[in-house]
Formats: sequence, structure tokens, C-alpha cells
Amino acid sequence: MIVCANPKAQYKSYKSEIDEAISKVLEGDKYILGDEVLALETEFANFNGSKYCIGVGNGTDAIEISLRALNIGYGDEIITVSHTAVATLSAIERVGACPVLVDIDPDYFSLDSFHLQEALTSNTKAIVLVHLYGQAGNLLAIEEFCKKNDLHLIEDVAQAHGALYKGKRLGSFGKVGCFSCYPTKNLGAIGDGGLITTDDETLYNEMLKVREYGWVKRNSVTKGINSRLDEIQAAILRVKLKYLDQDNYRRNEIAKIYNSINLEELQIPLTRPDSSHVYHQYVCKVQKRDQLMGYLSNNNIFAGIHYPLPAHQQPAYSELAQPHSLEITEKICKEIISLPMYPELPKESALLVKEKIEDFYCK
Ligand SMILES: *Cc1c(COP(=O)(O)O)cnc(C)c1O
Repeated sequence: MIVCANPKAQYKSYKSEIDEAISKVLEGDKYILGDEVLALETEFANFNGSKYCIGVGNGTDAIEISLRALNIGYGDEIITVSHTAVATLSAIERVGACPVLVDIDPDYFSLDSFHLQEALTSNTKAIVLVHLYGQAGNLLAIEEFCKKNDLHLIEDVAQAHGALYKGKRLGSFGKVGCFSCYPTKNLGAIGDGGLITTDDETLYNEMLKVREYGWVKRNSVTKGINSRLDEIQAAILRVKLKYLDQDNYRRNEIAKIYNSINLEELQIPLTRPDSSHVYHQYVCKVQKRDQLMGYLSNNNIFAGIHYPLPAHQQPAYSELAQPHSLEITEKICKEIISLPMYPELPKESALLVKEKIEDFYCK
């Protein structure tokens, strides 16, 4: 059986180091927000080329905490996309702000900066740019638009840990970078976890408060939430961070195999100029998508779809006003397929996936 993602395989490959890191925490005297979290925050900030990093409960909270610390709330509008994990919208709505959804571009599947001007109002406070599937969104145009219109740029880097744009890590461009460490992400915990990066000291201090009840010395000076990162997850993430670039390299080696599929019915993923790709997902556009998926699963190959239904078409978000066309968003969700992709995926398995796809179209 060939699966889409496999966090257990990653545990197995670093098992002795992870087991040791966990026992060290168990025998220590702090299980939450202790030395492991502090060390991870320093190490991830260094890795990412950011001044500060904060460990939090998950990626959704990372976005929520950033928004709260930036004083974004009721009446404010945030421009983002519908073609993303629903978490992006959930975080925006949790602070009471309104997500304003714009379409994506058909080549890279991320926010099409062409639509920003029409979405801008006097209530717009920020753009949440999702670096989808493992590569940069259109930072060049979007950074400039933010600067020109005095908007905060919030990077949703949940799918692109370690990816570079013009030689700099994603999550070091905007006001904040928000990362998820859900087990299947490129830097995944064995449970929930999240990280926020920033270069802004004032904002960093604000986010530290929001993370834990708005506390300064156990006195709530601002309204906060509880989104602490625990020591066990931090210790595990410290082990995996050491191997992140290497694991991303292994994902690229698998991508090379898939990239050699040469079929008219399948478009391999394009990489944006000046961006590296860390292939959180390897997403192709294909003809006869559902039949292909059926054929692959009959051959014990389980591909995925990210995402089968755009957020604005899901029941919880269908009431959101839709003033802007989401034509491409609605079209591509019927054409995309995510091929099995994780660092430990054996080369022979990737070759078999390739062979079965070729069989399907050439039969
Ligand atoms: C996974 C993900 C999130 C949310 O992260 P959680 O840790 O599950 O809360 C947010 N945005 C994107 C794009 C994601 O892929």
C-alpha cells in the first residue's frame, strides 16, 4: 500500500533520538513552556532568519494570536483565498474579522495579486498569504501592495517550512510568519504544535502575552487565550528541525521522479521563479481526475485532494458574502490530485505511482 503522507515512517527514521528526547522531558520538571520550548524558539528563529519565534498550540492559533496582537478584530477585513485549509479562515473569523476571498492563479494555485485592488476597502487591515503546497506565493507583488496600502502581511507558512524565496526563508518576509506543526506537515510534531516568527520586538512581546491569558507575571494585562506548546512536542520538533532541509531535499528527489511523467493529460506542478519548492504536497492538474484516483486506489495507491471543496462552498462558510469571482478556485478543485509524498517514500514506490499513472492514460 502506498499512502499520501506517513508521519509514522518519519518517527521510525529518527526513533532513537526522538525516544531519548521524550524521556528527557518525562524525567524533567517542566512539561509545558520550559527549556525545550525556549530552545526550539531560538533554533527555529535562527533557522528561519527571523529575530523572534514563539511556540504555540497549533497553526490555526498561530494566525489567531498574530491577528489579536496586531489589534485586528470586529469590523476589520482580511484578504485571503478560499483555496486553502479551512484553518486560515477559521483563525480570521475567531478574532471577529471578515475574510475577503479572492481568486487564485491557475499555475501556482495561490492568491492572484491581480485581484487585490478590487478587494481593497477602507476596512482592509491585512493580507494572509498562504504559501500553498510548499512554495512561495506571489511575494513580489503582494509585499509591494501591502507597503503601498499600509496593510500587514501575514504569511501562512503551514505548508512551506524551510522553503526559500530569493534565498530567504518563507515566514521572514511579512510582519509575521505562521507555521503549523501538525504531524503531516514538513516539520511535524507527534501531536499538535505551531510556531510564529517575527522581527518586530513589540509585536513579539504582545504575542507572548496573548499566548497565555494575556499574562505578564501572572497578571492579565491584555485579553489572551491559552495556546501553549508542550515540552514533549518541542523536544520532538528540535530533533526533526535538524533534518528539515535534508527531508525537504528527499521530497525534491521524489518530485523529480514524478516530474518525469510526460503525458498530455497531466500537468506537473510549476515552481515560481526565485522560489524553491519543498513539496508539502505534489499537486498535478489532470484529466479524468476521479477515474484516475479510482484506478490508483484499485492498485493500492492512495492519492489525495487538497482541497476537494473550496472553503466558501463548505456549509460553515457558505454564508460569507462572495463579491469577487472565484472562478479558478471553483474550477481547479475538480482537476487537482496530490500524489503520495513524504521524505521516507521509497523511490521504487514513486516509480510505481508514475508507472500506474502512465498505464491509466495509455491503456
Ligand atoms: C495545516 C494548515 C493550517 C492549520 O494548522 P493546524 O496546526 O492544523 O491548526 C493553516 N493553514 C494552512 C495552509 C494549513 O495547511
